[in-house]
Amino acid sequence: MTRCLNCGAERTADTCDSCGLTSAAAEFSLRRRLLTRTAIFVVGSLAFLAAGNHYPALELDGMLIFIGVVFFLALSLAIWVERRALRHAEVEALKRIYYGLIPLPWLLAALLFANGALDRSPPLIYPARVVGKFSMPGLLGSRRLVVTSWGGDQGYERIPINGSDFDRFRRGDLVRVEIHSGLAGIPWVAGVSHR
Ligand SMILES: [Zn+2]
Repeated sequence: MTRCLNCGAERTADTCDSCGLTSAAAEFSLRRRLLTRTAIFVVGSLAFLAAGNHYPALELDGMLIFIGVVFFLALSLAIWVERRALRHAEVEALKRIYYGLIPLPWLLAALLFANGALDRSPPLIYPARVVGKFSMPGLLGSRRLVVTSWGGDQGYERIPINGSDFDRFRRGDLVRVEIHSGLAGIPWVAGVSHR
């Protein structure tokens, strides 16, 4: 059984009974739709990076890894759907999974943005000492201050920090980290200052 690549209806002849497209036109339509949704997905991922940059969650690194995995899974899925469509194989199920992933980065971006922008909780100030710092160039351009943890567990916290602040701190500096608890319960870093 073959299904129309455009509407998913069962097809017995070259022209689909349901939408009236030929198999070539249906393939073209599927490709165009895949491309549009992929663009929406990529822009959503950029929106997530922007939200994470503006209201950096304390656990931003974990979120970045998660969204990175979703990003590569989704793009591999899109390529797979396209390959199968070229061979006129069944694509309906894969296509649905792919389309289901499209809103995910947008939802996470909105969550992070609302979590910070609409947060009216009082700041929590934690004393800490800088024990290290690192910066990774590239698209993410992530900079982190590694400071002693205030949880009392002898651990460390990796604080997302912007470029101008990054240069102000050195190892051994005593700092004050300003954390907000977040509207959605995701703690985020409002700033770091010297003590
Ligand atoms: Zn059709």
